[in-house]
Parts: sequence; C-alpha cells; structure tokens
Amino acid sequence: MATPTKDQANEDAIEAHEALTDAANAAWIVDADISLAQAIAQGKFHIAPLSNNKTCIKDIADHYNDLGYKVSTPACPTMYMQPAEYFGYLWDSYWSNRWICKCKQACRIRISWE
Ligand SMILES: [Zn+2]
Repeated sequence: MATPTKDQANEDAIEAHEALTDAANAAWIVDADISLAQAIAQGKFHIAPLSNNKTCIKDIADHYNDLGYKVSTPACPTMYMQPAEYFGYLWDSYWSNRWICKCKQACRIRISWE
C-alpha cells in the first residue's frame, strides 16, 4: 500500500474519527435510554449519566434536544465560574438548563423531562 499524501491521511483520519465517535455516541445512547426508562418507571424526571472520552457531548445533547429533552452539564469539572459570574448567553444557558460544555473527558450530562 502506497503512503498516502498528508492531505489524504488527514481526510481519512477525520473520517475514521467521526465514524468512531458516531459509534461511541450510539452505544452511549443505548445505555442512557435504559436508565432513562428505569428512571421514568421510578417516577423520576431526570438522569445524569457520565459521558466518556470517546463520545461527543454536543452530538448527544442534540439527540435528546431534538426529542424535546432539556440537556445540560451543570456539574462539569472544567466549569470554574460561579453562576453569579455568568452573563449574556452563558447566563441564559445556565439558568434555562441548557449549559453544554465541550469536555473531552468524563462529564455528567443531565437529561431531564420535567
Ligand atoms: Zn464538562
């Protein structure tokens, strides 16, 4: 097999990364849906499972947002600011339960149907 050009290598790696992320998101959603069903059966109104370094939090949030759920990452370890320090869209996102971080690590994703 010939060595790919740098651009081809880059393009192929992006494609492979996206495929791996899509697969990780799909597997994560299958598991999350199981705990979601259990929470509903227990009369609860949210779940807060952990993401992992293979999933994309934004893709997961989009999936549940599209279904009408509120999704946020209120316990993100990279969130240094206190709520009082938020302004503009950050303020709006935080208080409307739509704060989504861009973590590449394990982070709690709160999915609610209240
Ligand atoms: Zn986070």
